[in-house]
Amino acid sequence: MNDYIVPLCYLAAGGLFIVGLKGITQPKTARRGLQAAELGMLFAIIGTLVNKEIVDFRWIILAFVVGSAIGALMAVFVPMTAMPQRIALSHAFGALAAGLVGTAEYYNHQPEIGAFTMAAITLEVLLGFLTFTGSLMAFGKLHEILPGRPQVYRGQNVVNLLTLVVAVAAGVWLVVDPSRTYLFPVVAVLAAAFGVMLIIPIGGADMPTVISLLNSYAGLSSVAMGFALDNKALIIAGALDGSAGFLLSVIMCRAMNRSFTNVLFGAFGQADTSAAAAGVVEERPVRSASTEEAAMLLETARSVIIVPGYGLAVAQAQHRIRELADVLTRNGAQVRFAIHPVAGRMPGHMNVLLAEADVPYDQILDMDEINADFAQTDVALVVGANDVTNPAAKTNKDSPIYGMPILDVESARTVMVVKRGMKAGFAGVENELYYQDKTLMIFGDAKKVAEGLVRDLEASVHA
Ligand code: NAP
Repeated sequence: MNDYIVPLCYLAAGGLFIVGLKGITQPKTARRGLQAAELGMLFAIIGTLVNKEIVDFRWIILAFVVGSAIGALMAVFVPMTAMPQRIALSHAFGALAAGLVGTAEYYNHQPEIGAFTMAAITLEVLLGFLTFTGSLMAFGKLHEILPGRPQVYRGQNVVNLLTLVVAVAAGVWLVVDPSRTYLFPVVAVLAAAFGVMLIIPIGGADMPTVISLLNSYAGLSSVAMGFALDNKALIIAGALDGSAGFLLSVIMCRAMNRSFTNVLFGAFGQADTSAAAAGVVEERPVRSASTEEAAMLLETARSVIIVPGYGLAVAQAQHRIRELADVLTRNGAQVRFAIHPVAGRMPGHMNVLLAEADVPYDQILDMDEINADFAQTDVALVVGANDVTNPAAKTNKDSPIYGMPILDVESARTVMVVKRGMKAGFAGVENELYYQDKTLMIFGDAKKVAEGLVRDLEASVHA
């Protein structure tokens, strides 16, 4: 009986993971996709727990209770804006688990380990410990516990490469002769050291992309673990995780017009000495307006495109902005939302927020679908977005964001920008958009400004 239950559970898990991934490609089906993936995980757990090799459930139950409690607390208390670093932590612990399982497998079975299994264990341990320390470093940089600036020194790439080569060589030697137990800690320690060295030269700005890449490594480590343990669910889930993480980092690089090698070795933000990087931008006159004045302009607008960005997420202004869109629509304006692929701090960040506020999906358009329409739009209302609207990406070859595709807000008749002050965005660069004649700055917290706009627009519509 057990011989059938386990493979059937794993087959169901694999199928549901794929259905889940397909589901989360569309906002409409994302919720169901996640539910399918959760069900898949339940099948994977059941399949593992009915395994007849388990002799005692006590430690499993303890780990299950502690792990679930920590997971639930993180889900409830970690804000959406801190999601990238939360994901980095999850990868770190997933990868640590893979590294430790590989270690246990080695010490339990050496020297009687076949070459194939030993190769799988070596790969699992290499990638597992590398991803563990690398993800912890990424977490530290994103959470600003560690300096976000790239730490570079002469000959760094050579030292890094040498560390990796020695770790891999020790691993290969172990595959040839698994009885050389002294080599195992060499592989584990050098892999962990390489994880730290890999992240040190990468700037905080590139961390979300790197986290996605580390996700891919954690997936590959799970594949190796699956081969070492002969566990099909791990092989399937690891392969999906590995390829999804890799593809996501490629997509993120493309959306920012960066190459992979540039992310890994280019040290984005290295020349981060500008005043903008320090959060202070030189004082130049801008046109600012109160919510009352902005509401009067919005009242006459027939078409409005709202551009949400990271500041909207920080302020949690999505519900107020939806209300504003409703008032504008009732007043006869066509209202749409323009989503830049890297707006916010993780892919899909803005879609999630707008879906939470029940913004109809047909009002939410991707950059490629809506960019040409800005030229025929009365008002582009930029809410807490900065880099994704910065014209320097098109015009200034020296800008670190040069080449990144941007939302073409400056071609709208009027641009309204909601932000608290003149601080730079994630890339730490100044935005010329704010100094253009057609731009009106509405200073304040996005949620408060949105509340003010709803109030003043309603008052002026009913006057
Ligand atoms: P951004 O360039 O980081 O700018 C956000 C702006 O929001 C800031 O200039 C800030 O200005 C303002 N802000 C912050 N808190 C606010 C609040 N409570 N109320 C109103 N405004 C507030 O954001 P973005 O335009 O969304 O661009 C995303 C950036 O992240 C890009 O550089 C992208 O490359 C990077 N990135 C994104 C991803 C991803 O997957 N989405 C991954 C990696 C990197 P004030 O402080 O003056 O208010």
